[in-house]
Amino acid sequence: MSPKAPITQDVMTIPRKLPEGKVNLVGLTRDQLRTTLVAHGTPEKQAKMRTGQIWQWIYQWGVRDFAQMTNLAKAYRAQLAESFVIEIPEVVTRQVSEDGTRKYLCRIAGGHEVEVVYIPEDDRGTLCISSQVGCTLTCSFCHTGTQKLVRNLTAAEIVGQVMMARDDLDEWPTPGAPKDETRLLSNIVLMGMGEPLYNFDNVRDAMKIAMDPEGISLSRRRITLSTSGVVPEIARTAEEIGCLLAISFHATTDETRDVLVPINKRWNIEELLHALASYPKASNSERITFEYVMLDGVNDSDADAHRLIDHIKRHNIPAKINLIPFNEWPGAPYKRSSNNRIRAFANIIYQAGYASPIRKTRGEDIMAACGQLKSATERARKSRKQIAAEAGLDG
Ligand code: SAH
Ligand code: SF4
Repeated sequence: MSPKAPITQDVMTIPRKLPEGKVNLVGLTRDQLRTTLVAHGTPEKQAKMRTGQIWQWIYQWGVRDFAQMTNLAKAYRAQLAESFVIEIPEVVTRQVSEDGTRKYLCRIAGGHEVEVVYIPEDDRGTLCISSQVGCTLTCSFCHTGTQKLVRNLTAAEIVGQVMMARDDLDEWPTPGAPKDETRLLSNIVLMGMGEPLYNFDNVRDAMKIAMDPEGISLSRRRITLSTSGVVPEIARTAEEIGCLLAISFHATTDETRDVLVPINKRWNIEELLHALASYPKASNSERITFEYVMLDGVNDSDADAHRLIDHIKRHNIPAKINLIPFNEWPGAPYKRSSNNRIRAFANIIYQAGYASPIRKTRGEDIMAACGQLKSATERARKSRKQIAAEAGLDG
């Protein structure tokens, strides 16, 4: 085995067949949908047309009931209902913050739960979705990192989070009604639970569905995938998904990054910067976001700010730097940097010619802020000792 093999492959993807033997059509690519329809009796000759029709019902109109697919013959609708379901994660709880942020807890097959957050802003609405239940990585400042990986989400469960939010925002268009150009849900960020690049195929298929012009039709430029730095998968992200990229950078020396983002022990800062410098989509209009969590006394010095700029300049990476005030959670081993410190850090970056927005913390009253997401699956919880050991904090 190569020493650079991915840290994790201990993941399960559940079969698409549901207990009652019906197949879920959500999350299938167009090709898969076509093959599935044919395998269940749709005549080959009609398959292309039926695929297009059913696709539109599911992703353009948000229909979940075959009986409502009125451009299909009644007998065919009944036949579809015999073999298939159109199923998305079920909302268990929904909390709305004082600032309008909505946090959903959704149940998926196996009784697991994932969190989804909707953040409304003046000119857009961003949905923060999850790609795994828990995470195999153990970033020492991240609440999700305290939870063991339970499993990868399927493509249906990933795009299903978007469909669920559109249901809640009542944003499916009505056939025949004039097209409404203002979108409540206009952007997606893969910044919920999990490492999206350790669930690449399902994330890709789900995002392709979300981008499909005959459906949810979000532009690839309105989707941002955040990764802790799975270097071998970064180029594929541009090639196969084409979305924007955000990197959980968080530290400017390998020594500190090894502790904060332990995947750094596998692919260090230089290797990561190399991969970013050759990200095929990066340009001045599509810059890479460097996410940088501000931890008091750990990574927030002036020297850190200068080193950060130096890394980016040395590799000539079109970048913007997003400073994230640390969201504290019960038992977290760090404190948030002071506002003065964050401003001073931001100023150094700004002076060097880079955008350095400080992320507004949203939904804090409902624990919906970045990095606070975590399901209530206590069974799968790591002990604090284990986290400390994995993060190398104990020695
Ligand atoms: N696994 C991916 C995506 C999910 S995390 C990744 O690591 O990029 C989304 C973002 O939230 C990352 O930048 C992560 O570093 C950040 N984050 C995690 N915990 C946080 C916390 N407690 N406070 C602020 N940001 C946090
Ligand atoms: Fe996983 Fe991202 Fe949290 Fe790290 S920051 S533990 S990669 S979810």
